[in-house]
Amino acid sequence: MKASAFSYARATSVGNALDLLVAHGEKAKVLSGGQSLMPAMNLRLISPELLVDIGELAELRGIELKGDVLSIGALTRHVDLLNSPEIAVHVPLLTQAIAHVAHPAIRNRGTLGGSLAHADPASELPACMVALNATIIVRGQDGERRVAAEDFFTGIYETALSAQELLVAVEVPVAREGSAHFFHEFARRHGDYAIVGVAAQAIVQGGVFSDLRVAFFAVSDRPILAAAAARLVNIPVTPAILSEASTALGEELDPQEDQQASAAMRRHLAKVLLVRCVSTLLDRTDLDGG
Ligand code: FAD
Repeated sequence: MKASAFSYARATSVGNALDLLVAHGEKAKVLSGGQSLMPAMNLRLISPELLVDIGELAELRGIELKGDVLSIGALTRHVDLLNSPEIAVHVPLLTQAIAHVAHPAIRNRGTLGGSLAHADPASELPACMVALNATIIVRGQDGERRVAAEDFFTGIYETALSAQELLVAVEVPVAREGSAHFFHEFARRHGDYAIVGVAAQAIVQGGVFSDLRVAFFAVSDRPILAAAAARLVNIPVTPAILSEASTALGEELDPQEDQQASAAMRRHLAKVLLVRCVSTLLDRTDLDGG
């Protein structure tokens, strides 16, 4: 299918993009890499009257270390995240996760900002941002807002962004001493959206978690930070404690059912992933029955 007729404007600055978004309201859509927007338009799931192309705004692109955070511009492409030495050193969870996002052709054009603004609940990067305790930087005509990743994703394809705002950057805390990460997803084929996935970031000191953030994706309408993980912090984890946490996770999640998997299967896979995640982060084969 082909998209409905639309107008196109190439923004010359962030201010110009915001002027266009304010002038056209809900009728306008931001265009970044187009890897989600164009298919949705071609399928006529959405029919914006105006596309505001921000693709030439160099100020929205790039990766910079600022103290104890890595600032990543919204227009930074997936391929640039994958190949970035700064990301590999300071936020290795992202390097690992990004390899699971789609395929090379899509990663060559798709952007971090586009993926987060699109907010597909089966998407890898939103869950990573929640696990990493990242801050999403949003700009509107009244200035900038900073939104915790945990509060940014509000539903299926829904975020805290208004139609008059741009996601301009993300700030990700850099890995500290004792940092460990885990990423895994179950998908039918490599590059497909996940059936269930997990992204986790932890601080491990003396074999004990002093911090543990475990974010599941494709189990709800948004990434879910597992409350059950709190049971594993500041205590020596035993198989019994991990089993209790896994049971609590199963009760906490309320997964959706679709043609890929039943709710029960998603709940089961999430519990399996929690056990694998914790045993890998603690480097303990005794915890997963291995
Ligand atoms: P666009 O398509 O340009 O925009 C997406 C949405 O975000 C639009 O609503 C747009 O208006 C809005 N938007 C974009 N940028 C901004 C901004 N800066 N501020 C405010 N709003 C903005 N993704 C995954 O995560 N995992 C996968 O496994 C995966 N598989 C895919 C497989 C296929 C075949 C395809 C076509 C896509 C797949 N994707 C997957 C999606 C891909 O990663 C997209 O690149 C990404 O979701 C959107 O990035 P984009 O820059 O292309 O955004």
